[in-house]
Amino acid sequence: MSTFGIDDLPVRDELRGKSPYGAPQLDVPVRLNTNENPYPLPEPLVERIAERVREAARTLNRYPDRDAVELRTRLAEYLTKTGGHSVGRENVWAANGSNEVIQQLLQTFGGPGRTAIGFEPSYSMHSLIARGTGTGWISGPRRDDFSLDVAAAERAIAEHRPDVVFITSPNNPTGTAVPPDAVLALFDAAQAAKPSLVVLDEAYIEFSHGDSLLPLLEGRPNLVVSRTMSKAFGAAGLRLGYLAAHPAVVDAVQLVRLPYHLSAVNQATALAALEFSDTLLGYVEQLKTERDRLVAELRALGYEVTASDANFVQFGRFADAHEAWRKILDQGVLVRDNGVPGWLRVTAGTPAENDAFLEAARALEKDLGDLTDPMDLTDLNDQRQERGA
Ligand code: PMP
Repeated sequence: MSTFGIDDLPVRDELRGKSPYGAPQLDVPVRLNTNENPYPLPEPLVERIAERVREAARTLNRYPDRDAVELRTRLAEYLTKTGGHSVGRENVWAANGSNEVIQQLLQTFGGPGRTAIGFEPSYSMHSLIARGTGTGWISGPRRDDFSLDVAAAERAIAEHRPDVVFITSPNNPTGTAVPPDAVLALFDAAQAAKPSLVVLDEAYIEFSHGDSLLPLLEGRPNLVVSRTMSKAFGAAGLRLGYLAAHPAVVDAVQLVRLPYHLSAVNQATALAALEFSDTLLGYVEQLKTERDRLVAELRALGYEVTASDANFVQFGRFADAHEAWRKILDQGVLVRDNGVPGWLRVTAGTPAENDAFLEAARALEKDLGDLTDPMDLTDLNDQRQERGA
């Protein structure tokens, strides 16, 4: 058997010995590990998708609308209606998931010789996409309670003068939201230091107790808000992410996007889903209620729980989080070990799924350990990437 592997190939040095993103896709009864929406799309929407895709199929011999004009117009209308700020299609850009949006931003504003910063633990793909685009990564600080330490973050920005600053609100995997004054403080620090592009990742904003910070775009061309249809729209399989920003940012990402990156089938499906945004946002309300129930019941069981503004909850603390993850899996419930020492993350599912999870958490309660060592976040990034956090 050949032992020839990646490292025997002439791959880029920074990719040697690394692992890809890899949240386990296991076939278990209750899957609460990747922050998906547990509700399948309603049947009338499934029908509408079929109709729109049938229509698109008639012209699949042609390339799709390269600028996705209709889709961007509808996304702008959705943002204007729900985000407290009026945006037009010239402010909006769409791609295959917000991961691709982030990749295009880093290809445009990062790259070799440039750096990006995120405040960790946070969404691990920010650093992985930085690596893939040859952008240097700076792991910025966060408090032990996972809130953003604004003064420490400002110092890190002043010291490193990054080209791109990621602020994730609500943050993944902790669930914590970042208040508007903190975002503004970091934006100002980033402008004073460089100036740099500030990316506010609002993938989970529809689940938040607070409002979108979309209105902050006014008068700030170096600010970008990134969004996705993977969570609130219940369409993770669709692969549709988007951004809102000054039209110049939209023009800039055209320099790196692949021509016809967004397929006609994808655009047709997203347009159908947007027609049903009111219905889909109704499911979001149910999920918010379930998220709050998970927080309350986990606390009642004696767990520490990080306040959540997202569709998931971080809970602990375990002496050995990975062992706890495995024991919960033994009960048929898949949650997420993001590699944050002492903590696990559970996605809010249907009431029945959440009951199954809470049952497993109750059984585990007796194993709750005490993390006496202070959290060491220095190697966290590498550990988390290895586990595909
Ligand atoms: N940002 C954050 C904070 C996320 O957690 C995720 C998905 N887990 C994404 C962006 C990417 O989502 P997608 O590519 O499905 O839009």
